Amino acid sequence: MMKSICLLSNVFSVFRKTFFALIIAVLIVTSANVIAAEDTNAKTETDSGWTVIPMRVTAYCPCEKCCGEWADGVTANGHVIRPGDRFVAADGRFAFGTEMLIEGYNDSNIVKVFDRGGAIKGNKLDVFFPTHQAALEWGVRYIDVKVRNR
Ligand SMILES: [Zn+2]
Repeated sequence: MMKSICLLSNVFSVFRKTFFALIIAVLIVTSANVIAAEDTNAKTETDSGWTVIPMRVTAYCPCEKCCGEWADGVTANGHVIRPGDRFVAADGRFAFGTEMLIEGYNDSNIVKVFDRGGAIKGNKLDVFFPTHQAALEWGVRYIDVKVRNR
């Protein structure tokens, strides 16, 4: 009789150990997830001085189809458009001159915010091309844009 009680308590002891091991495992996994989530947030503010923002990137040119009444060859910050120009239109929360890196635009080199647009609000960008055809070829792209911290 003693022996069987002893056995029973051994079984309980094993069960308890397994149970605690399970709880600890769950805690570790949970905290790892929390750390991973914090990491993701941290990535948007990089140490390199750039913030990565997922954006919807469309394209435009100086034509009337793209700019309507604003098709005067001058950007919102007063820049007179010249051949070969590469710049972007962005939401007002990105000050004029803000530097951006947009994969596939301007050979992925830095471009600056020179312009605004009625439909360019929030995480939307309009990249400038010299011809309507080039703007059409760009289409709509979803890109993790790097924005220089100011
Ligand atoms: Zn156009």
